[in-house]
Amino acid sequence: MMAPYYRDTWVEVDLDAIESNVQNMINYLPDKTQLMAVVKANGYGHGAVEVAETALASGADWLAVAFLDEAVELRLAGIEAPILVLGRARPEDVLTAVKYHISLTVYQAEWLEEAMRFYKKNDPVFLHLKLDTGMGRLGIRDEQSLSRFARKLKEDNRFVLEGVYTHFATADEDDESYFNEQYQRFKTGLSWLKKENINPNMIHCGNSAASLKHPDKMFNLVRFGISMYGLSPSPSMREKLPFQLKEAFSLYACLTHVKKVEPDEAISYGATYRTSSYEWIGTVGIGYADGWRRELSGQHNQVIVNGERCPVVGRICMDQLMCRLNSEVPVGTKVTLIGSDQDERITIDEIAELLETINYEVPCMINERVPRIYL
Ligand code: PLP
Repeated sequence: MMAPYYRDTWVEVDLDAIESNVQNMINYLPDKTQLMAVVKANGYGHGAVEVAETALASGADWLAVAFLDEAVELRLAGIEAPILVLGRARPEDVLTAVKYHISLTVYQAEWLEEAMRFYKKNDPVFLHLKLDTGMGRLGIRDEQSLSRFARKLKEDNRFVLEGVYTHFATADEDDESYFNEQYQRFKTGLSWLKKENINPNMIHCGNSAASLKHPDKMFNLVRFGISMYGLSPSPSMREKLPFQLKEAFSLYACLTHVKKVEPDEAISYGATYRTSSYEWIGTVGIGYADGWRRELSGQHNQVIVNGERCPVVGRICMDQLMCRLNSEVPVGTKVTLIGSDQDERITIDEIAELLETINYEVPCMINERVPRIYL
């Protein structure tokens, strides 16, 4: 149950939007291809447990997280679906993974050796082998290392290779040459495994971008992250999506103070903004300590009040910001920072553009200080 909260600043997560994005993706994929819902980083800021439950109820078969800690959190919340940890787990934590039925990513013979030493029980340890085909982050890169890994694996049948996968670096880009190169390298890696007589059940390579563009090339599982949350993997893909994505994340606060300020008066730290005439200034209860970054200060960032855009004026403070209202409105009026109000809408992509970052970062940056409400 959610703890009570007393502040008028909140995120709304539209779980119906997540349901729709998952269902549309499943319908779009070939029947043989399952969907793994990526809920790392607290479900990209949306809430890992709530998103995971919604995705599973909408037809997802698997969940993916970054760390073992995130996987255990899902188990403690009562989620029973298969979970893959995408990052490295410590070899000594294999016992925890087995206890909670969590699959781990592996890519080093040394890791296996250490894990085999630590692990004293007989229950199977489920693993997915990561191949580095050009992301340069995690994974086996050459046949010799794969052979060493395979030899080690065959020494101990408690360690079961359930899957093999890779991750693309440029799947969201228009130029597909590097994507194609990685795809070919993945196929080569699969042939090395076959030579070793190792045939994992699950083969996966696609993130949202790759699976939206190439549903037929995704073997039998896709790892669906950003577009499950209703966001396009990149601005260039926005106009070419095979179905409409529904954005799930909105951010609201309320006006905590409203006043008419005389001309040439300063607003906020550093007195960087001065009123040019009599202006209605509203104070809003959100700031950089909530993740509403200070770089957003200034009139390029807008909020919506009563269906009209209003510029943020002066520097964003730790817990508050000020905006210039078009007219007097009552304290307590809802302010939209991300989302829709009447005919106006501020998208996550708009905020990402202002911050010169990617849309992935925006919901992640709104931290746990801001309560999440689920619709
Ligand atoms: N697979 C891996 C290994 C990832 O790191 C991520 C996200 O960063 C994903 C899948 C999901 O990617 P996306 O959010 O672009 O769908």
